[in-house]
Amino acid sequence: MTDSATLADRLRSGELRLHELDDHADAETAAEARRRFLATETDADLDALGAFTFDAGQATDANVENLVGGAQVPMGVAGPVTIDGGSADGEYFLPMATTEGALVASVNRGLSAIDDAGGATARVTDSGMTRAPVFRVSGVAEAETVVEWVDDNTERLREAAESTTSHGELLAVEPYVVGDNVYLRFAYDTKDAMGMNMATIATGEAADVVEAETPAELVAISGNLCNDKKPAAINAVEGRGRTVTADVVLDRELVEETLNTTPEAIVEGNTRKNLVGSAKAGSLGFNAHAANTVAAMFLATGQDAAQVVEGANAITTMDAREDGLYASISLASLEVGTVGGGTKLATQSAGLEMLGLAGSGDPPGSNADALAEVIAVGALAGELSLIAAFCSRHLASAHEDLGR
Ligand code: NAP
Repeated sequence: MTDSATLADRLRSGELRLHELDDHADAETAAEARRRFLATETDADLDALGAFTFDAGQATDANVENLVGGAQVPMGVAGPVTIDGGSADGEYFLPMATTEGALVASVNRGLSAIDDAGGATARVTDSGMTRAPVFRVSGVAEAETVVEWVDDNTERLREAAESTTSHGELLAVEPYVVGDNVYLRFAYDTKDAMGMNMATIATGEAADVVEAETPAELVAISGNLCNDKKPAAINAVEGRGRTVTADVVLDRELVEETLNTTPEAIVEGNTRKNLVGSAKAGSLGFNAHAANTVAAMFLATGQDAAQVVEGANAITTMDAREDGLYASISLASLEVGTVGGGTKLATQSAGLEMLGLAGSGDPPGSNADALAEVIAVGALAGELSLIAAFCSRHLASAHEDLGR
């Protein structure tokens, strides 16, 4: 093993490349050497990158290449809030990692109103992580042959897919034909894993069977009908990951006292902004800022940050009822896990611990379901608070008061 100063010199001389350092030193020393090298190459002070708490070796094995250090994001907490969920049950403090001042305060105000109303109800109504390989065929007649074979042989595909995982279960294979392309959208119950790696590996095994038994030739294991990390109507309609709804009824006095507005004003604000405005814009998200809560909780709990794209596929509804205000948010494609990915990193694991949802659930899948329900309640709180702020015209003054 070599010290970081020597390794940095060898980088400078061109004798070693950045990624080769891991063969010459432990992950922490290699990261330090890269920082030393980059500091002189770019004339930047990179010391702050060296202050991290995760295990460098573990991160290098599972999460990142060419490690140089850690990027820190401030973490706040909102709540507590009581949740009556299909899996979430009881009182939760929500960890939120963000650089957007006023966000945690806003969600906290919404959660406080929800909690004063007795808490929120939440349910995961559908679940399935998808991977959709694209196959080349000669034309539509051959496409029909492939689709018929797939329909008749789902059990064989299930056997192949599930041979790669002890947790994942194949739920369905949905074929789509476009000219000489056949897309097979595989959906899996991935239990407590977000499941993108699991679904990709399982689908690879099943795709081998399709290729062996039909004229179809695999072009790509992801044909973008999955659809991962891009805005896509299929996820908003069919769902991906967890499809989850949270709702609450707030009585009139509570709306007036806590949110400084009326149920009617909130309903009007929601209709004109989230529904009509979003429709006119051709938006896939019919909500005010669900992505804010999704992003902050994703960062705080080790989720795949790029999947905030799908997490923004949410519809917020508000209804003035005799007993007050009915408010809901339905997130069509919230991709979350409590095992795998970034969930084991020290601070992200602490975020999950704060929720009592780290690791495997009992039964498997219940922790990830509960996490989806908690995030949905946080997003609902954000919607209530922001729409109320618009209605009572408090938004600009809140940001001014908090100095942002
Ligand atoms: P993973 O870290 O690859 O794997 C999680 C594994 O944990 C599962 O495969 C499973 O093993 C095991 N496991 C243990 N207890 C479990 C439980 N209670 N429930 C479910 N699984 C359990 O995680 P992943 O969720 O499949 O994938 C997430 C990662 O994929 C993230 O790092 C993300 O950035 C990345 N990603 C990959 C792609 C891609 O195309 N490959 C795309 C986007 C994101 P068994 O399967 O053996 O049971």
